[in-house]
Amino acid sequence: MRIGIVGAGIAGLTAGYRLAKNGYEVTIFEKDTKIGGLAKSFDFSGNKLDCFYRHIFKSDIDIIRLIDELNLTNDLIWKQVKMGFYYMGKTYNFTTPIDLLLFTPLPFFDRIKLGLISLFLKDVKDWKQFEKITAKEWIIKNFGSKIYDIVWGPLLTQKFAEKADKISMTWLYGRIAARFKSRGSGGIKEVLGYLKGSFQKLIDTLADEIKNSGGKIYSGLAVNKINYENKKVKGLTAAGKNYDFDGVIVTCAPALIKTMIDVKEAGIEKSVNAIDYHGSVALVFSSKKSLGDIYWLNVADKQSPFVAVVEHTNFITRENYNGNVIIYIGKYLSIEEELYKLPDLEIKNRFFSYLKNINPLFDEKDVIEWVVIKEPWTQPIVPVNYSDIKMDYKCDIKGLYFANMSMIYPEDRGMSYSVKLGNEVIEIIKNDFEKGDF
Ligand SMILES: Cc1cc2nc3c(=O)[nH]c(=O)nc-3n(C[C@H](O)[C@H](O)[C@H](O)COP(=O)(O)OP(=O)(O)OC[C@H]3O[C@@H](n4cnc5c(N)ncnc54)[C@H](O)[C@@H]3O)c2cc1C
Repeated sequence: MRIGIVGAGIAGLTAGYRLAKNGYEVTIFEKDTKIGGLAKSFDFSGNKLDCFYRHIFKSDIDIIRLIDELNLTNDLIWKQVKMGFYYMGKTYNFTTPIDLLLFTPLPFFDRIKLGLISLFLKDVKDWKQFEKITAKEWIIKNFGSKIYDIVWGPLLTQKFAEKADKISMTWLYGRIAARFKSRGSGGIKEVLGYLKGSFQKLIDTLADEIKNSGGKIYSGLAVNKINYENKKVKGLTAAGKNYDFDGVIVTCAPALIKTMIDVKEAGIEKSVNAIDYHGSVALVFSSKKSLGDIYWLNVADKQSPFVAVVEHTNFITRENYNGNVIIYIGKYLSIEEELYKLPDLEIKNRFFSYLKNINPLFDEKDVIEWVVIKEPWTQPIVPVNYSDIKMDYKCDIKGLYFANMSMIYPEDRGMSYSVKLGNEVIEIIKNDFEKGDF
């Protein structure tokens, strides 16, 4: 049984690994010259560094199991780190419940209420109750407008821009509940996980396993078209060449699926047309000096050109990077926005200029190296009633399967959920194969 996979991100590689282990003939096509998708790394400051800031939570069980299965657990580092929150010209610690109680921009009772949101959401069983209401409406209705205006509103705006007011409460539930589940008893202590040598280690190990089981991975080869006849998959076309397959898994964003198949014939027209993504811009730089002891700083200021400052070396020490400090500055945005289209130098200048505002310790003279990384399909937008448009693993074309980030719901997308997509899609394929439904 021959399976073609479009995309060598975490989902495509996980599916490929499991299929190859189960005796399927697997071929993966990746349009980028490097494999790993959004989780890939690059060489920076003497080590491999993830293109985007990166950690996992204790609740990310699918990726933790995969890491274990691939004998990489010894490389998995768990650490407690400090979080911060920048608001109206001041940086507040935002790690422990005590920090919340000391968060003076909110009146005292609102600080307690802010903590209660997480406590309440972690025990919710029926998340469907949040499908019809936006995060904004739910927070204001249950906890008041101050909490929205000062904490969640600016953060949602930074992540979803003009679409912030339309984001479903299920998205916020998915994010907060998963986060809370990763805390120890009492919900106080949270540790984050990182794979020594970057998550490229997981990607490369998966690729080696696929190749050792007879699978093939082509990088720098974009799939242009999925071929099918009488609603049955025949294969795909990449760079003008046809490849025959009994089944094809597509792991890229819905907007890209549109370019490969007739979505109406596949019965996924409504989903593909309705599902929208934001892109990401990250400025990564190495520096001689640290900005402080905070690992992750949320920037809750609508004027800020970025949403977070992540000092990676407050998590993974600078000895790993030739003794340099590594910092990411990130932003999610529509790829139609001006910032996304700006030259790298201009993005760097805007980010550095604002960074100076929020952290007087920053001086561009200390910067050793910098790089801007952009990706167009990074954050699915989750409006109310998302279940109505969510894509399924299967469609009306036999042998054609999907496993993309937009299908992760109600949780927010993350590497562990892409592992889960890979795990689940291959179970469906195995089942169809056993039933002869191919
Ligand atoms: C800024 C940022 C920070 C993040 N931080 C974290 C984090 O800390 N922890 C965490 O767990 N997750 C994090 N994530 C999310 C995580 O990176 C993704 O959820 C995960 O990597 C997605 O994997 P995927 O395989 O589902 O999709 P992708 O990685 O998008 O893979 C899809 C692949 O398909 C390829 N492709 C597209 N079109 C074609 C074509 N025509 N032919 C062939 N190939 C094609 C793409 O090049 C890509 O490699 C972050 C993401 C971003 C953007």
